[in-house]
Amino acid sequence: MIEIKKLTKIYDNKKVLNNINVDIKTGEIFTVMGPSGTGKSTFIKSIIRLIKPESGEIIIDGRDILKAKKQFEIQSIRRDFGYLFQDSALFDSLNVWENVAFGLKYLTDIKPDKYFDVAREKLELVGLKDIEYKKINELSGGMKKRVALARAIAHNPKYILYDEPTTGLDPISSEKIMNLISEMSEKLGVTSVVVTHDVKLAFTISTRIGMLFGGKFLDVNTPEGIKNSSIKEVKEFVETSFIEVNRGH
Ligand code: ADP
Repeated sequence: MIEIKKLTKIYDNKKVLNNINVDIKTGEIFTVMGPSGTGKSTFIKSIIRLIKPESGEIIIDGRDILKAKKQFEIQSIRRDFGYLFQDSALFDSLNVWENVAFGLKYLTDIKPDKYFDVAREKLELVGLKDIEYKKINELSGGMKKRVALARAIAHNPKYILYDEPTTGLDPISSEKIMNLISEMSEKLGVTSVVVTHDVKLAFTISTRIGMLFGGKFLDVNTPEGIKNSSIKEVKEFVETSFIEVNRGH
């Protein structure tokens, strides 16, 4: 479980995250949705302290990552996380399986002679077979995302953080990623935090959605609850986004 209390991040005198309180429950898919520039990336990066907030608490299974003083304490909490970066962040100089296995040395006690098998197993989990030796620049955007997901789950994390997982993908690849996020949650029993402005994604996969506006959660609810929200900003965002989806944006 991730307990977030009074979380505040300030850039240039502006409170990008303004006193946020939310609990992310074990096993759920918690999606943070909202317009761009509203603090979604800042929120997800703060969870593993890629960004250091000014104040507040982020308690992960009882350990506050913001209070951790030593690098090894931070690393030991980060080990429980897999992170799918918005741009996949794969290494062009390494082939597919080497990318998937990249973190095993730092994050696990697995012996090097087993790395290939682990990579192959994780690639299969995301629906990719026989591409272990391919180069990254031979892959489509959707395949890169899946390789990046295989890497994110390689060390068997308890939590997976997804930063805009469908951005830049065509509708079919988006659908695949969407299904995989649900599958990872079911098959691996992980807790997921997803950041997106994609309403279709949010409404399809989420257990709960937090609507972030101007650094605050205006509503945290089930997809049904968010669809029927009486909060003005939330209603407007959902309605406008659905019009855009129907127009094919
Ligand atoms: P979102 O992910 O919802 O698009 P971000 O978390 O990226 O929003 O950004 C929220 C706000 O914080 C934006 O106004 C952005 O310009 C600002 N911001 C983000 N990172 C920095 C930074 N490193 N320095 C200054 N301002 C930043």
